[in-house]
Amino acid sequence: MTKFRRLFDFIGSLKFRLIVLFILIGVLPGILIRVGVLNSYEKRAVSIRTSEILSQAKILTNRIVSSDYFNADDTSLIDAQLEQLSNIYDGRVMIIDGTFCVVKDTYRIDEGKTIISEEVIKSFNGEEITKYDPEYRYIELAVPITRTDKETEIKQTLGVIMVSVSTDSIRLNAEYLARNAMVIEMICVFSVIFFSVIVSIQLVKPFHRMSKSIEEIQTGYGEDELSINTYTETRQICEKFNSMLGRMKVLDDSRQEFVSNVSHELKTPLTSMKVLADSINSMEDAPVELYKEFMADIGNEVDRETKIINDLLSLVKMDKAAADLNISNVNINELLEQILKRLKPIADKQKVELVLESFRPVSADVDEVKITLAITNLIENAIKYNKEDGWVHVTLNADHQYFYLKVEDSGIGIPEDSLEHIYERFYRVDKSHSREIGGTGLGLAITRNAVLMHRGAIKVFSTEGEGTIFNVRIPLNYIA
Ligand code: ADP
Repeated sequence: MTKFRRLFDFIGSLKFRLIVLFILIGVLPGILIRVGVLNSYEKRAVSIRTSEILSQAKILTNRIVSSDYFNADDTSLIDAQLEQLSNIYDGRVMIIDGTFCVVKDTYRIDEGKTIISEEVIKSFNGEEITKYDPEYRYIELAVPITRTDKETEIKQTLGVIMVSVSTDSIRLNAEYLARNAMVIEMICVFSVIFFSVIVSIQLVKPFHRMSKSIEEIQTGYGEDELSINTYTETRQICEKFNSMLGRMKVLDDSRQEFVSNVSHELKTPLTSMKVLADSINSMEDAPVELYKEFMADIGNEVDRETKIINDLLSLVKMDKAAADLNISNVNINELLEQILKRLKPIADKQKVELVLESFRPVSADVDEVKITLAITNLIENAIKYNKEDGWVHVTLNADHQYFYLKVEDSGIGIPEDSLEHIYERFYRVDKSHSREIGGTGLGLAITRNAVLMHRGAIKVFSTEGEGTIFNVRIPLNYIA
């Protein structure tokens, strides 16, 4: 099984593909050139040979006519020339007279016989016939022997000269060339294979180095940055990897910070309780009033601890996947009225005026519990971090896509350098003030998470000493 796996891995690898590519590029043109060149060589050689023989045959026909070969007693001169042609081209020459009778055959087989073939008849009609038979490897020619009457200019065909020559020598030449080409090609193939294997291994090396470096980073050995700059691609991958690693480190740091913050926050009320309990215990004959006062303080610390734990639980729930959202169609106007009604007593206590302004009826697909928590946190903050006789304006508006919620207050405002931190868990601009009024530093983190889970957005504008505006935008229809 692992053998197959390894084979598949190899076939799927970049190395293998490069090897195949190099071999194709290196070998295919060679084969094509060899086949193409050899083919055209044979054709070209046959055509040259044909035209050579044709011109020789034509010269002979002229001599045959001028020496009046068919009627002459001594034909030895012409016969010698016919023999010569036959020898030079390793072929057979035949002269056929007007009665289709073979009067001369350099092979001396058919002399005296009658030949009536298609070529002969065509040739008697004045045509020059050339034919190549690649199967039996010979060229055949039939050339008419014609005499032109000087006075009347009328042509008369006296006979036909037929030549057939073997093309074995051409074939032998072609085969010799093919063999040579094959040897060269084999040498090329082996060098290409050798070269492609070496080059592919070299080309793929940076990727192996990269995976090894990642492994080292994973195990904690070696450097904690990936840097392989051989190719633009590897450099880009390294950059992306390093930035991802950076993000993971930030996440890890923030997780550690969160844990230490949580422990610290949870410990603070416990320490207070311990101090209160110890001091009352160490007092002899402490009056009941003091006991009551201390117990009330301890009760307050318990409340604080409970609030921190509750906030933490909400936050943890928000951190889970968005699949946990319990979406339903909610009347936002009614929801806001309910929230404001619940917060009215706190506002009254702080002497803060609470006003709701709705521009239109709005209903949206949201998780009612989470959105309520988010909005409550914003309005509660606007009341908590306000001044005496201050105000909080809550405005609701919508278009066809989103609803917009604005929570504006006349409070203490947020310093500019704190604006980017207020959504962090446990971040408080003024720790002691926030503690005094019961803040945990988790409220805005919860709000932001809830808004983002609904694919919404939250923005803050603030001027210190003047007030703060939180703008929230949430889609009317939930997009999963
Ligand atoms: P807390 O529980 O302390 O209110 P939050 O996460 O709700 O924590 O807010 C973080 C910090 O942002 C607060 O401690 C406070 O300093 C600041 N803040 C939030 N809302 C307002 C506001 N409306 N006006 C001024 N400061 C604000």
